[in-house]
Amino acid sequence: MSTSPEPSSSAAEGRQTHGFQAEVRELLKLMIHSLYSHREIFLRELISNASDANDRLRFAAIGQPELLSSDTELAIRVEADPAAGTVTIIDNGIGMTREEAIANLGTIARSGTAEFFRSLSGERQKDAQLIGQFGVGFYSAFIVADRVEVLSRKAGLPAESGVHWESQADGEFTVGTVTREERGTAVRLHLKAEAKEFADPFRLRSLIRRYSDHIAFPVRMRKEGEASLEYETVNQAKALWVRPRADIPDEEYRQFYQHLAHDFTEPLAWSHNRVEGKREYTSLLYIPGRAPFDLWQRDAARGLKLYVKRVFIMDDAEQFLPLYLRFVKGVVDSSDLPLNVSRELLQQEPEVEAIRSSLTKRVLDMLGKLAKDEPEKYAAFWKEFGAVLKEGIGQDVANRAALLPLLRFASTHEASDEPVAGLAQYLERMKPGQDWIYYIIAESVAVARKSPYIEQLTGHGVEVLLLDQRIDEWVMSQIEGFEGKRFKDAARGDLALGTLESEADRTQHEEALKESKSLLKKVKDAVGDSILEVRVSARLKDSPACLVLDEHDLSTGLRRILEAAGQKVPESKPALELNVDHPLVKYLDGLTDAARFKELSLLLHEQAQLAEGGQLGNPAEFVQRLNRLLVSLTSDHAE
Ligand code: ADP
Repeated sequence: MSTSPEPSSSAAEGRQTHGFQAEVRELLKLMIHSLYSHREIFLRELISNASDANDRLRFAAIGQPELLSSDTELAIRVEADPAAGTVTIIDNGIGMTREEAIANLGTIARSGTAEFFRSLSGERQKDAQLIGQFGVGFYSAFIVADRVEVLSRKAGLPAESGVHWESQADGEFTVGTVTREERGTAVRLHLKAEAKEFADPFRLRSLIRRYSDHIAFPVRMRKEGEASLEYETVNQAKALWVRPRADIPDEEYRQFYQHLAHDFTEPLAWSHNRVEGKREYTSLLYIPGRAPFDLWQRDAARGLKLYVKRVFIMDDAEQFLPLYLRFVKGVVDSSDLPLNVSRELLQQEPEVEAIRSSLTKRVLDMLGKLAKDEPEKYAAFWKEFGAVLKEGIGQDVANRAALLPLLRFASTHEASDEPVAGLAQYLERMKPGQDWIYYIIAESVAVARKSPYIEQLTGHGVEVLLLDQRIDEWVMSQIEGFEGKRFKDAARGDLALGTLESEADRTQHEEALKESKSLLKKVKDAVGDSILEVRVSARLKDSPACLVLDEHDLSTGLRRILEAAGQKVPESKPALELNVDHPLVKYLDGLTDAARFKELSLLLHEQAQLAEGGQLGNPAEFVQRLNRLLVSLTSDHAE
């Protein structure tokens, strides 16, 4: 790398002014305000970009070695000028053409960005976190600078095709064509008055050591002493994942994550491994602490950074992890893949399939360990990514045994509605004689907790998992059981209480069945054909009635979704279950007035529909019925 003290350029020609894309303007505004307390991250971001640019040139030079010409040592330089209040970050990497500078430094090419900015709240503390999820990159220069200049020349192009880009973050930037002798990019920051400390070489050195030590290229600064022309390397200049685990302090792992993910929050966990033998590769995988804003965006970038024998090959190599682990960030460095491997080739490479399968296991192991050793951190993970991990139940049948213990649910065992119960803990808490893992699905955890369907279960001290997400119904339909115990939806079929019921309870239940025969028939006649049958309930304790579907019937929730989507769904009739110990049902049994019997039967049916979150066929009729009943109460009292 040439070491002329400052990047040179002649006066720019063909000057043009452009407006920033609206999203960039939004980002600049928010970032400058909300990242003030993290402002030193600008250096890490710019050195990261310089390192990427060098990586990309090295990759391009595999096929076109002439791109390197005589300047073959890829490096990064940081120049400070305390008198002028400037700091300049210089690389001799791939560089940019004028068009590329306009596109790359004037727009954000990430889908969903506009929606993301619209969703930001304006509360500084929160937005700082959210912008962290977004990754600020180049634009972070404007946290400390009121004017930024970029000089660049694309590798392989002549000196006259240099570009000069400049902006004061006022909504516009200008570009001009210049002659630039050096290949690559120099980013010069004219520091704000209150950020002049960043022109101090001493401060810069310490920041580089702290944030950019792991950058694989040498980051150089001038030796101390006035006007020294000699440079020295400030960082370790060795790819982090190449170093032995024992030599890497946690803090460096964290810094590397922040460089990799452009995220200034801390990762929850990481796993660094070298595999040797028939197959050779190194991987370093991180579980982020926060979900990126585009986690649910179909076309969002995902995957690992791929290196082959330390040479950067591509970002976002998706083939190394399944979709349901798309939140994982990291690096994979293979010694076996060819340097000219392309995305298409990756899809067919059996080597990649083998790495993918062992990386998947590694991530699941890492999560298993986190769940076991640091349940609080795991709870934080589940909050951010649990819904994504659940997709794995359907996508990855081979690893289901490892996935099941990672699931978390809200539960009647917990006072709070947070999903903290695991299946392993559920098994430990099962009652003697309990054969099933019970769950209930409702609109919310609070509704599930109050559900009439689980009254007897909770009355017997049996734990019930409380599910409330749309995906849950599908997840539960995929899994049969866990460690020999099967799942049972408390709202369906026979609750199979088995020996959970005492002998006395059972005899009582059987007697009730016998005694209630005629009542059941009368209620069925009163309610009519919308129900399959009327039964004596084993699941109710405090409520008088509920509707119960058969094990194989489509759930009411799913039915509603399908019907809303215009699908024809096979009809399934629920059974109406009555709690024969309930005073209302006892009263019904004793009624001789046929009209009143019918009224009350219909009311019981209607309230059962409401309790399961259903909609009434004719709400007005229900209200009239209810009011007639209430009025009759008042007249009873008047008597
Ligand atoms: P990101 O690096 O996450 O893509 P940035 O905002 O940091 O986002 O940069 C935007 C783009 O500008 C980069 O993707 C890259 O194409 C280009 N760029 C930034 N810095 C450099 C550099 N030093 N050399 C070449 N290109 C660069």
